Amino acid sequence: MSVDFYSDYSMTIDGKAVGASASFEAYNPATEAVIATVPDASKAQLDEAVASAKAAFPAWSARPIEERQALVTKIGDVLTAHAEEFSRLLTLEQGKAKAGADWEVGGSAAWCGGIATQSLATTVLEKDDERTVEMRHVPLGVIGAITPWNFPILLAIWKIAPALVAGNTMVLKPSPYTPLCTLKLGELLRDVLPVGVLNVISGGNDLGAWMTEHSGIAKIAFTGSTATGKKVMASAASNLKRVTLELGGNDPAIVLPDVDPKQMAKELFWAAFQNSAQFCCAAKRLYIHDDIYDALRDELVAYARTVKVGDGLQQGTDLGPIQNKMQFEKVKDLLADAKANGLNAVLGGDVPEGQGYFVPVTIYDNPPEDSRVVKEEAFGPVLPLLRFNDIDDVVARANDTDMGLAASVWSADADLARSIGERIEAGVIWINEIHTFSPHAAFGGHKQSGIGVENSLEGLAEYTNTQTVVTRRSPAVTIA
Ligand code: NAD
Repeated sequence: MSVDFYSDYSMTIDGKAVGASASFEAYNPATEAVIATVPDASKAQLDEAVASAKAAFPAWSARPIEERQALVTKIGDVLTAHAEEFSRLLTLEQGKAKAGADWEVGGSAAWCGGIATQSLATTVLEKDDERTVEMRHVPLGVIGAITPWNFPILLAIWKIAPALVAGNTMVLKPSPYTPLCTLKLGELLRDVLPVGVLNVISGGNDLGAWMTEHSGIAKIAFTGSTATGKKVMASAASNLKRVTLELGGNDPAIVLPDVDPKQMAKELFWAAFQNSAQFCCAAKRLYIHDDIYDALRDELVAYARTVKVGDGLQQGTDLGPIQNKMQFEKVKDLLADAKANGLNAVLGGDVPEGQGYFVPVTIYDNPPEDSRVVKEEAFGPVLPLLRFNDIDDVVARANDTDMGLAASVWSADADLARSIGERIEAGVIWINEIHTFSPHAAFGGHKQSGIGVENSLEGLAEYTNTQTVVTRRSPAVTIA
């Protein structure tokens, strides 16, 4: 199929290209230029998409799982076949630098292959000559998937692949800030998936809200902010929709005194600043032991000075802009607050005037624990470095948050680091590494970072209901 990646953005409803009477614009965050006009779906079009997904469900769920797995593998093949175009379009609409865009596209393709190996076995719970008690998994129906703007392709695939393997059909809505790659994926998959199995619609936040209250949708798979996640959950109660909520984080990273500051600086920098820190599980609070605090701070700043912030399309750029104006203003407000409160920025801290939503890498030297840059998820390249010298104290500080997405602990003594990690209230604990994900490892937040998990068999099971089947070989009482 020949597809122009850079124009003609249409929705995919019932296997067809669909426009809308209203539209909105997509911007390149590096230049603020309009790059596309995008259909703004109406409520009636959402109804059509849900009706199409509903009509496709009986045949899709009845297909042997091997066929569904094979088609999900093909989704990965489509991403691979168009990797260069997806990567460029991702940079154009999201802002991330080429290496990050390549990682996202390649990772998404690999994910399809990984999830396509998974299935949920029927478990025999009790069995004798007369009777069996079994538990099996049945798909839910139509899944409403809602994604954010930081990893638009990957986080869509994290939902599409398991939902479809489990036998569900889907209506997918990308963020209005980054709709383009998702719309193009929908377009390319028209030739791959049966009609109605994957509908892709674009629109604003209202469209997301309409999805959460739609009676034809059985589950909302949502990635986004904690504030919106709470609205999703409240609205989903209308027909007792299932929800998976992957929400915000304020992840601590704890660095023990036995690491070499010079060797560690680069890895810790990227732990915090990858994707310009628009990363749910970026290291957002870096707790450094007193013994190495000054040395590691200086090494981090020295390394950060070598990192180039700029237009992701330009060669040599390491970090792109903030993805949208709303988030740009939020980060600027955080920096203004830090300045007003006299926090010590050892790097950055001021946003220069100019085109594009660029924020320089900003590092604060030991701000008070209750300052906004420590308490709030910046979702931009802003990192507080925090001193500690007592393990119990740092664990308490790491846990003093409503968030609980992930955490990391860094030490030459992996056992000690692990024992500290296990005391952190978070869904993923990394010891001496970070941001290693797998289709087979559950990812999900504790506390207000989310409900449920994505990936792994646990994540697959969240796209199903359990069904207990009790079979007696012959009726217990026979009437002669
Ligand atoms: P957001 O909550 O503003 O938007 C996410 C999606 O929800 C968008 O598609 C948006 O249109 C839609 N939406 C907005 N209002 C809605 C409503 N009332 N009902 C239904 N849908 C609605 O989040 P964002 O700013 O796009 O993303 C950033 C946030 O996502 C950060 O907090 C980040 O930590 C989080 N995030 C979490 C994970 C994770 O896996 N836990 C991954 C990436 C991002």
